[in-house]
Amino acid sequence: MTTLSITGGQVLLPDGTVTRADVLVDQDSGEILETGADLEGDATLDAADSLVTPGFVNGHCHVAMTLLRGAADDKPLDAWLQEDIWPVEAELTPEDVRAGAELGILEMIKGGVTAFSDMYFHVPEIATAVEKAGVRAVLGHTAITIGKDEADARADMEESLAVATDLDGAADGRISTTFQPHSLTTVGEEYLREYVPRAREVGLPIHFHANETTNEVDPIVEEHGVRPLEYARDVGLLEAEDFVAHGVHVDGTEIDLLSETGASVIHCPASNMKLASGMAPVQRLREAGVTVGLGTDGAASNNDLSLLDEGRDAAMIGKLAAEDASAVPADAVVEMLTQGSADAMGLPVGRLEAGAPADLAVIDLERPHLTPAHDLVSHLVYAAAASDVRHTVCDGQVLMRDREVTTLEEDAVLERASEAATQLFERAEG
Ligand SMILES: [Zn+2]
Repeated sequence: MTTLSITGGQVLLPDGTVTRADVLVDQDSGEILETGADLEGDATLDAADSLVTPGFVNGHCHVAMTLLRGAADDKPLDAWLQEDIWPVEAELTPEDVRAGAELGILEMIKGGVTAFSDMYFHVPEIATAVEKAGVRAVLGHTAITIGKDEADARADMEESLAVATDLDGAADGRISTTFQPHSLTTVGEEYLREYVPRAREVGLPIHFHANETTNEVDPIVEEHGVRPLEYARDVGLLEAEDFVAHGVHVDGTEIDLLSETGASVIHCPASNMKLASGMAPVQRLREAGVTVGLGTDGAASNNDLSLLDEGRDAAMIGKLAAEDASAVPADAVVEMLTQGSADAMGLPVGRLEAGAPADLAVIDLERPHLTPAHDLVSHLVYAAAASDVRHTVCDGQVLMRDREVTTLEEDAVLERASEAATQLFERAEG
């Protein structure tokens, strides 16, 4: 057994309290052995003047969209997708997706994110990037049927099933998968009724967009006479292992339905604010017992992949939505950043305790904006930034030490992504 001791820091425990302790990790099994005083390991990671937290878990991302970052801003969702995003995405090659995924994963490691859930295409390229970078991911191919003939629509749904089946358990078990109908309005009812049961047969959880804007709600109410999540339930979605991205415009009936089924919501506050989609009722969801995680969504609608930023946004917009400054407090946000997203994605991470996977971030507290240290949970949500992360560990392996990523070559990743983005936009405009 090879062990690593993370020494001298303050540790955020699963109950939300902070205590001075070392963390001892078995690097062979990738598990935490114990937290406590004076734990010696074969190797050491210094955490003096630092906070050791569970690695942050990004519950909803389109990681390769880093190549589209900053290319089109300040437009509503439908126009942005149809005029700016989809025409460029149509030109994406597998190599582009690989370059964009490496860039996004590099950014996430630097911000203490150790796991993410992704929805995109050319997924084997993303899996290769995940394997190389050493992070954990729940991947899938997102299928769309509207605007396609039956053969193309069917091929896309089949690909979503095949990718999820093929890649499950890849990268030494760090990759798991979901079946991904893109949304309730972009996949036809006949395809949902046929393919959702097939995904169940092979035990796949389902990750889909729902209730992001009123444009995703009104057509379903008009056509089916029920709310979108009632329709989702009717076609076989919303099992306990499923998770819904966004859930902005959900009413009381839908909140009850989420609570009854155990399906989770991934809240993406920055994307919802930037696209003016609306304010998710996070306080009400949590009070109803719904598992809520946090996601960045793609970098084109955020425009970064910092989960710490997402946490602060969740606290701020949660208070506005509830018209109550005590709503979505700091401890709730920390839970969503770690356990909430992990539980939604079906990962046994998000908790620093013996037996749990050793996925963690070490945050430098010797910073002007983190001084004085009255309350470190408050700091994590309201003051800390991605650039405060010193070390990132996933599955017991050190992915970043003293702000230097060990598994990806930063300069080369930036150069490849910039070059790929330049050529991509030249093709799209040509
Ligand atoms: Zn999304």
